[in-house]
Amino acid sequence: MCMRNYRGSDYNSGYPLCELTLQNFKHIVTPDLLMQLIRPDPAVNGRTPVVWDFRGINFNGNLGDFASAKDALEIVQYVNQYHVPVAINTNGSVRNTAWWQALAMPGVTVGFALDGLADTHHLYRQDTDWHRIIENAKAFIAAGGQAVWRFVPFDHNRHQESTCKQMAADLGFARFENIYDGRDTGPVFSRSGQYSHYLGKANADWSKHSYQELLTSHINWHRKIPDSVNDVDHIEYHCLHKKNREIYIAADGSVYPCCFLGFYPGQMNHPGNTELAQMVRENNALHYPLEQCLQWFDSIESAWSKASVAQGRPWQCVQTCGRARVNV
Ligand code: SF4
Repeated sequence: MCMRNYRGSDYNSGYPLCELTLQNFKHIVTPDLLMQLIRPDPAVNGRTPVVWDFRGINFNGNLGDFASAKDALEIVQYVNQYHVPVAINTNGSVRNTAWWQALAMPGVTVGFALDGLADTHHLYRQDTDWHRIIENAKAFIAAGGQAVWRFVPFDHNRHQESTCKQMAADLGFARFENIYDGRDTGPVFSRSGQYSHYLGKANADWSKHSYQELLTSHINWHRKIPDSVNDVDHIEYHCLHKKNREIYIAADGSVYPCCFLGFYPGQMNHPGNTELAQMVRENNALHYPLEQCLQWFDSIESAWSKASVAQGRPWQCVQTCGRARVNV
């Protein structure tokens, strides 16, 4: 579930960045739905918002930071009334300490992105303030909150991991997580589009390229639908949506099986979006009942049986969850 600036008229005009208000959230995530999350035998068309390895609601900030959403605290308070677990991942650099103290409710876990110490953290987390995050995390922990130190390793901060781990323990973080996912290199640009620095070992003189030029080239690369190494004859899908019985609700209220497919077809340019856009039907839960918004998911699973991506397999499913079957 991801939130940013929802405004009804903006959705209709195709403006991509939006935010669910408390009222929007309550419209989609009703008390009945929340009650299903804490009942032993859930059932909404056989699918329930079970996210990753816990049962509850995960605010991951796919398209924007949870803490910057206007009604973020009120939404968590609403969910908390029903004792549904909440997990939040955030930069933690906005709001004041009183706000973070109020967020420290039972069943709420907050992962603070802290990629190193004060001298390295900002190299990836642009425009965030390490000292302020630490103050916010300390306030949250002092109020009884369950905090997680989430550390993305880069060449510039690997040497600080053990210090961060020790600091996390000293400050009362419940745990320290190294969340390396392979994405640790790339050029960094300022807000004004000026080249700033490179993360990792630069393989070219990136300062020669403008931000707009690189963005256009990235979008064009995505539009070409690069081959997936997983696009093999004997493929099997380890579908996290099915395994975890999760659904993903984006910041504009649109519903997808998982965050990998959560996109705004008109604005975000991921491989396979054109094909996926043709499968999506009536999926905005602000306009249609949630159960209706799930019905197009079947077309994704049907497309799995196609012979290849070129023949209609969803690229993102192949790339993210496809594996060559071992015993064929
Ligand atoms: S990308 Fe496709 S296969 Fe993977 S979790 Fe999402 S729907 Fe399932």
